[in-house]
Amino acid sequence: MLSFNDKKVLSVKILMSLILMCISILTFAQQDLTVSQFNAITEQVEELKKTDLSLSLKKLTPFESQLDNLNTEQKLIYFKLLSEIYIEQNKYTTALKSVNEGLKVAKDLTSPSILISEILYLKGFAYESLEDMPQATKEYKKGLDIADSLHNKVQIAAGLINLGAIAYLTGDYERSLVLLHDAFNIAIQTDDEELKGTVNTELGIVYSHLVEDEQSMAYYQQSYVHFKKAGMLLAAHNSLNNIAINHIYNQNYQQAIEVFNTIITESNKDSPSDGMYTVYTGMSWAHLSKEDSNPEAAYEYLLMAKQYLQFTEKQNYKMQYLVDEANVLYQLERYDEVLESIDKFEQLMLESKDISLVKRQNYTYLIEVKASVFNKKKLFQKAYETQTRVIELTNKLYENEDNRSIAEVRLRLEAEQADKTNKRLHSQQELYEGNLLQAKKESEQQRFFLIISALIALAFAWVLIKLIQSQHKLKVASSIDSLTGVKNRRSVMKKSQQAFKVAQAKATSLSILMIDVDHFKKINDSLGHSSGDKVLAQVAKLGESMMRKSDIYGRLGGEEFLVCLPKSNLSAACEIGERLRANIAKHSWQFGGLDTVTVSIGVASLDGDIDLLTLIKRADEQLYHAKASGRNKVCG
Ligand code: GH3
Ligand code: MG
Ligand code: MG
Repeated sequence: MLSFNDKKVLSVKILMSLILMCISILTFAQQDLTVSQFNAITEQVEELKKTDLSLSLKKLTPFESQLDNLNTEQKLIYFKLLSEIYIEQNKYTTALKSVNEGLKVAKDLTSPSILISEILYLKGFAYESLEDMPQATKEYKKGLDIADSLHNKVQIAAGLINLGAIAYLTGDYERSLVLLHDAFNIAIQTDDEELKGTVNTELGIVYSHLVEDEQSMAYYQQSYVHFKKAGMLLAAHNSLNNIAINHIYNQNYQQAIEVFNTIITESNKDSPSDGMYTVYTGMSWAHLSKEDSNPEAAYEYLLMAKQYLQFTEKQNYKMQYLVDEANVLYQLERYDEVLESIDKFEQLMLESKDISLVKRQNYTYLIEVKASVFNKKKLFQKAYETQTRVIELTNKLYENEDNRSIAEVRLRLEAEQADKTNKRLHSQQELYEGNLLQAKKESEQQRFFLIISALIALAFAWVLIKLIQSQHKLKVASSIDSLTGVKNRRSVMKKSQQAFKVAQAKATSLSILMIDVDHFKKINDSLGHSSGDKVLAQVAKLGESMMRKSDIYGRLGGEEFLVCLPKSNLSAACEIGERLRANIAKHSWQFGGLDTVTVSIGVASLDGDIDLLTLIKRADEQLYHAKASGRNKVCG
């Protein structure tokens, strides 16, 4: 029998264990609830963040206080989603914090997970956006290694895309094309529409850098279709943005304005600032450049862009803005303000840790604008000094590897790939055009937010045009001899090298004329140096006027000229040399006291020479003979 006391103890014990049971059941239930809630909510967030960043963030943040109840994988998913949202909101520094939290958690994993690869890509992307390319590359490579070890096709392709973007951002277009085409080939084997959209976007960008506008447009259009299929309305908007910018490149300003307007009407306060900034600067540029240019409207749009500028973490955008501002203010003839914008740009240039090619292009362009402002203000001495600085800067740009790589890759593309790619793109484009129309209609019916998928660096909108234009200008400037107006040494040698290689490969004839003005020192001594200059310019012109289009004619320096005659054998070349000599000798000079000017010419023809310099050396020997045998002669 149990005593009363025993009974009391027992009932207390039962009560206690009941309470304990309840507590443990409750705890268990609560834990279980959190876990299942989390899984359901992450699914929602995955969908929501395609269209609404604030709302998706709101859904996610309550879990911050519940992290201890989640397992390692769930924690990783939490930090991954958080980083993705921050990145799409262009908050790169904040994104880096979440990424690092995630990577800390990842240390608890016992086996490798594809989630780590995804988080590493996000980390790389944040660094890329903050312009730390070496660090970005490192993270991308780490992520790709994991994707590779897990044989995850989609993640491997994503890694190649990331590295491909770094390549074009650092001017290595060749590498970029290889990586992106590899990614493309993997992507088409999957049914991942987001991946396909992304690789098409990146290919569009790199072809746009290479001024292959049609191909670029086809890729952008495909990316639009894929993003729509994936339900990624924000990313699809980004494709529209790219399409509008391509319209600007092609000088279809009205079309560009229409597309930008679509984006503007469909965006709202929540739209990512970097994206909106790009849209409004694009609008500004289109209004400035269209046939009935409207600088006032352009300035208004620029002011709207400026509102978004304060939120950006991208130094590029801040500098880009000043270029746009200087440009528009110049059109408005507000010259003092132009100078202010340029000063600000120069200040940022000094503070900038990464002086990219585009920044240097911009800088050179702005200094040129500065020179024009001084001219307008009739400050001619200052204008002259500034212009000298422009020449220095453009020369430096010309020597730059990045510039050359654009030209080289383009040449290679044209020669080898363009035809193949064109055919493929053409059939793809036909296929997609129908879809595109349909998708566009749908998009107009829906209200959605604008996102610039952070995978894109489009700060360069119109500057790329400037880049190409200034490159073209600078090519002309640095290939012409400023005294005589004929090709300079660098240019005549380069062109002759090319002709030499062709002649060698095709076993055709090629000759060289070396021309040297006789007793030029005496001309200088008797008439003065500046008249000497005029004589040189005249001799150059007389020579050039006698050349065929295919002949390469230029000044080597001093009073020496070189002519490269493709498809001319020795006797033909001697004949041309003789005519040239006679023409100069019989020219009547307009200088007081100057009777005749003569030249001596040495001729040599390609005859097993290993390189151009050997051939030139033989022509030089003949020139020496011509001088030694009395001058005013052609020797070959
Ligand atoms: P030769 O018949 O043996 O060729 O005699 P030369 O006097 O022409 O040859 P030399 O090479 O001794 O002298 C060339 C001169 O050309 C010397 C240099 O002062 C002058 N010269 C070189 N470049 C320029 C230039 O740009 N302008 C002028 N005015 N003179 C130049
Ligand atoms: Mg000489
Ligand atoms: Mg001479």
